[in-house]
Amino acid sequence: MVKWADICLPKDRGGLGIPASRRMNVALMLRWVWQILQGDGGLWLQLIKAKYLQGRPLLACSLATGSQFWKSIQAIKNDIRLGLQISVGNWVGTQFRLDPWLDGEPLRLRFPMLFAICGDPAALVSTIAREDRWHVAFRRPLGPAEVHEWEVLQQLVPLPVLTGRDFVSWGLSPLGEFSVSSTYFALCRVPVLPWLSPLWKAPLPLKIKIFVWQLLRDCLPSGTEVLKRHGPGNDICPLCHVPETGTHILFSCVAAQALW
Ligand SMILES: [Zn+2]
Repeated sequence: MVKWADICLPKDRGGLGIPASRRMNVALMLRWVWQILQGDGGLWLQLIKAKYLQGRPLLACSLATGSQFWKSIQAIKNDIRLGLQISVGNWVGTQFRLDPWLDGEPLRLRFPMLFAICGDPAALVSTIAREDRWHVAFRRPLGPAEVHEWEVLQQLVPLPVLTGRDFVSWGLSPLGEFSVSSTYFALCRVPVLPWLSPLWKAPLPLKIKIFVWQLLRDCLPSGTEVLKRHGPGNDICPLCHVPETGTHILFSCVAAQALW
């Protein structure tokens, strides 16, 4: 009575913790993306740089043709932004609006009105930074609200200082090092539900925990849930003649109240 996708969520996020093979595969592929961003690789990285990147940063490279490995990298590379943090460097490979280089948040989220009318959403910091200010092209003149947002951006976003190459770190682990497990959990895109923790820690048989888990999700095979899925019977409790839900069976039914 629970969707397979939900069953495959981690236990602390509302699922049963069954590994999702596709999500795990993406997490493992993102390790390659991480290594490319860090410049951490041998001959294979030289090959990628020479054949595909040709001086462009990976996240700004839109070349979609090539080997199966390259196409897989291109398909999932943007998920690296779930945990990517970029520190001050020479900004050569940093995208002004898309990369999370300002306090770990992309500018497209902090300044959505400006992002909606910008000329080149994927522009690099190094191409629009000048000595005195940001030189950003917009598709039309700015309105009053956009002018205000632009002023805030100019005050808030520091001009780059050339100090060396860009430095990337992983915001989802304490040491800043990429890990497949933290990526796997981030790819769930579902927040942690702290109130579920006592259930899974309780000293109860697993089948009882799963029963309570179904109750909490309102997915017990009660009359109303069976009928929703076009199952047999009606949704009426034979004792009380009211709709039979999970909470009714366990708490408000006359039979249940007699037990409690
Ligand atoms: Zn009843």
